[in-house]
Amino acid sequence: MNTVEPIAGELFRFHVRSRSRPGEAWLVDIEENRCACENFTFRIAPKLDRGEPVERCWHLQQAREFFVDAIIELWSEKESIGQAGRRMAGNFIDELT
Ligand SMILES: [Zn+2]
Repeated sequence: MNTVEPIAGELFRFHVRSRSRPGEAWLVDIEENRCACENFTFRIAPKLDRGEPVERCWHLQQAREFFVDAIIELWSEKESIGQAGRRMAGNFIDELT
């Protein structure tokens, strides 16, 4: 399983694999800055709800890094983008057109 997997037709939502539960993945939304994992749900979200500074769980960080890398590689027309990157690029182009 890729660490980060784009979701067809969704520009800002990804599945990011769980590190502690092999074979499972969490739904991550980088636009809303939300993740379905336990760390985010029980530790980070209550802080955000109290207006404390934004924190990101590992999954959010991975999804954001994947997103930025794919956009940069798409822009610079590199070939290293990979299949998951190409799927994300497809979502990106759909969003633009
Ligand atoms: Zn998470």
